[in-house]
Amino acid sequence: MKGVFVLDAAALLSNWTQQYPDSEFVTTRGILDELRNRPSRERAERLVLIGRMRVADSDPDSVRDVGLAASKLGDLKVLSDNDVSLLAIALSIQGAGRTVTVVSSDFSVLNTATALEFRIVDLTAKMRHQITWILRCPACGHKEQQGSKESECPVCGTKLTRRRKKSKRLD
Ligand SMILES: [Zn+2]
Repeated sequence: MKGVFVLDAAALLSNWTQQYPDSEFVTTRGILDELRNRPSRERAERLVLIGRMRVADSDPDSVRDVGLAASKLGDLKVLSDNDVSLLAIALSIQGAGRTVTVVSSDFSVLNTATALEFRIVDLTAKMRHQITWILRCPACGHKEQQGSKESECPVCGTKLTRRRKKSKRLD
């Protein structure tokens, strides 16, 4: 069975889709709305019109599971709502037994995608490691193990910064 490519805005802003004339693409309404560049938007809308690309909605259970995975990695803070929806859609498609490839240029999207065991296409070709982040207070050195949306140090109130906790090489 053929896999499904789940596309971030970066994939739709380039002519990347032309490399895969027989594949099935999925994206979100929010990502289509991000395409301000007119030729890209028209190209994306054409893919939808001819039935090559589906615009899907994320379900709350998948959004929650993506949130948990991203939070463990310390990526949740930097993922946009569109990013989370896109990954949630990928998770539901994977749950239906399909092979999912997430296509993005966003490190946090790709990092979380890897943790969720999707295949990835890194449009920047720079992603070599899966990173787990830790939040650290630059003032008092307090460390938060789990990256959450919380961005202030619970000890002294300084804004926490992300540090690399561990990195795992991707094959
Ligand atoms: Zn502190």
